[in-house]
Amino acid sequence: MGELSELFAPRRIAVVGATEREGSVGRAIMENLVADFDGDVVPVNPKYDEVFGVPAVADVGESDADLAVIVVPPHIAVDAVRESGKAGIRNVVVVTAGFGETGSEGASREQELTEVAEEYDLNLVGPNSLGLMSTPTGLNATFGPDNALPGNMSFMSQSGAFITAVLDWANDQGIGFKDVVSLGNKAVLDEADFVDAWGDDEDTEVIIGYLEGISEGREFIDTAREVTQDTPIVLVKSGRTDAGAQAASSHTGTIAGSDQAYEAGLDQAGVIRAESVQELFDAARVLESQPLPATDDVAVITNAGGPGVMSTDAVGDSRLSMASFTDETLDAFSEKLPAEGNIYNPVDIVGDADNERFRDALDLALGDENVGCAVVLTAPTAVLDYEQLAADTVELQEKYDKPVAACFMGGERVKPAAEALSDAGIPNYFDPARAVNGLDALSRFREISEREFDEPTTFDVDRERAREILSSVEGRDDTRLGVEAMDLLDAYGIQTPDGDIVDAPAEALEVAEDIEGDVVMKIVSPDILHKSDIGGVKVGVPNEEVYDAYEDLVTRARNYQPDANIIGVQVQEMVDLDSGVETIVGMNRDPQFGPLLMFGLGGIFVEVLEDTTFRVAPVSESEAHEMTEEIDSAPLLRGARGRDPVDVAGVTETIQRLSQLVTDFPAILELDINPLVATPDGVQAVDVRLTVDPDQL
Ligand code: ADP
Ligand code: MG
Repeated sequence: MGELSELFAPRRIAVVGATEREGSVGRAIMENLVADFDGDVVPVNPKYDEVFGVPAVADVGESDADLAVIVVPPHIAVDAVRESGKAGIRNVVVVTAGFGETGSEGASREQELTEVAEEYDLNLVGPNSLGLMSTPTGLNATFGPDNALPGNMSFMSQSGAFITAVLDWANDQGIGFKDVVSLGNKAVLDEADFVDAWGDDEDTEVIIGYLEGISEGREFIDTAREVTQDTPIVLVKSGRTDAGAQAASSHTGTIAGSDQAYEAGLDQAGVIRAESVQELFDAARVLESQPLPATDDVAVITNAGGPGVMSTDAVGDSRLSMASFTDETLDAFSEKLPAEGNIYNPVDIVGDADNERFRDALDLALGDENVGCAVVLTAPTAVLDYEQLAADTVELQEKYDKPVAACFMGGERVKPAAEALSDAGIPNYFDPARAVNGLDALSRFREISEREFDEPTTFDVDRERAREILSSVEGRDDTRLGVEAMDLLDAYGIQTPDGDIVDAPAEALEVAEDIEGDVVMKIVSPDILHKSDIGGVKVGVPNEEVYDAYEDLVTRARNYQPDANIIGVQVQEMVDLDSGVETIVGMNRDPQFGPLLMFGLGGIFVEVLEDTTFRVAPVSESEAHEMTEEIDSAPLLRGARGRDPVDVAGVTETIQRLSQLVTDFPAILELDINPLVATPDGVQAVDVRLTVDPDQL
């Protein structure tokens, strides 16, 4: 375990504010600590000589402790932490509430706390924390009613109440933990620190958590993706920031709510995201106890036709697929199973199956090289002994070392068998879908742990020119830019069509004459950001119509908004939409994760289609490439219905170049290239729109 190892394995704990006063937090913590802790406990309270028979000291400086738990009232809590730091105690848990969660006075108190922690280089948990536990030493420095059972999951939670609820339930289920920590307000230590520490901890096999937010998104991604090469992380993330509701003028801004950032960020981090507490523990328990499947092919062995179909549906909804057995296995099945059974997957061994037939079928299935994992699915019958089946299942799971999920359906009748299975690390579920979900989590983690990371590419770009273009908004009220900022893309090597912006019809004609074929003409005005909405885009304009088109565009703009600031008209080379696909590449900033890139099907109907995918920038080439594969319309890019495939490598490179641009310039608050037209011959950014914060330049 890394730097935080001492936090979870102290020898001597000072409880600052320890008391026997009924109903107090100081009492609850003392009671929990004296009950089981292997090390020493020192109550710190000038009012008492002893607390629960343990001799007390007047101040923390005399405690000789290596962990201080602070439970004194908020107005003296910061001082108590400072005293702890002065006394050389590096690990501090601030249980006291009344900090950032309570308003401006609390917020400044929290700020002070952070400064003290920095000054003394403290590992500080909280404030406003339920406390922490570590089962190997019987450490329970929380004020919750229950202690955790020993186990190999380490658990962090942003809600203390969630910990007490989970522990009550987990104790009932026989689910144990290595470390438990209530993160509180995360003034100093946050989820990334604990992920980092537990990643190095040999006794932690699975990291689980309940989070409402992630403090430093990028740091979390970078830490977690290392850790998840070996140790699975399963998280429930609740709550939404109001970032999604903030007014956004770009398409990406309108489509990207904050949850998309979490979805993308957690995925990049290698975190398995659970939608509910049930999913969290279903995944965590199999990850803790079962091997990873070598392949995603699942065999279902059942004595019940209906549930067999349910499990096939569940497999269809998951990332797994139904295994096809080898000919040898099929022959063997034909021999062993009655004619009315089904030798194909799901293998129906029929309602009259006894234990021997069940065992034989499972043995054959697990022995098949085409099978990566199995579901044992059964309904009670008079000829089947559930406990014997449980024993056989455990034995065969171990024999083949392939993951097995159990779905012994029933109630009271199932209990002893379910217990035997659970003791061997095979959770039993009533519902086939839950059994399949467990296998799904194993498969997902196998993929995560095998991921390889390439560093983001750094392209040779003209950063100074980009800065100049962005600076053009300085001193303006409206800091949005449209096609007048096309050169920004050019500075970062993103392909744009030939063309220019002009402010007179004669000049428009000059530009048009330099361009081969018909042209596209667009109104250029910071007041008109969605140009085609007002008829401000004319495609396929021949040279002889350029004059009229110019006048017409300006008239339309004036009609729309008489005082619109009209910069002029853009005359642009036509790109071949017939052979191409209109895509969108965009970015908007998430408060936690920073620049969030979007890629999707583009054009004027993006918001209607919403066929998009997201990544936190900066992205590597493989991440950018994945984005082009993930959207529903991906087959369009790869040449559907006899069309030639478009330049996907060009799209990938554009995403990477945009990633570099928005990483280089935090001043770009949001940006859309829509459309980025991708044709078989290349890509062209024909439209851009962005918002700049000049103060960040
Ligand atoms: P806006 O998004 O403000 O309405 P665009 O510049 O994106 O304006 O143009 C709208 C649509 O016009 C594009 O989605 C595309 O279909 C078409 N278009 C724009 N520029 C070109 C071009 N250079 N070549 C071909 N079609 C274009
Ligand atoms: Mg557009």
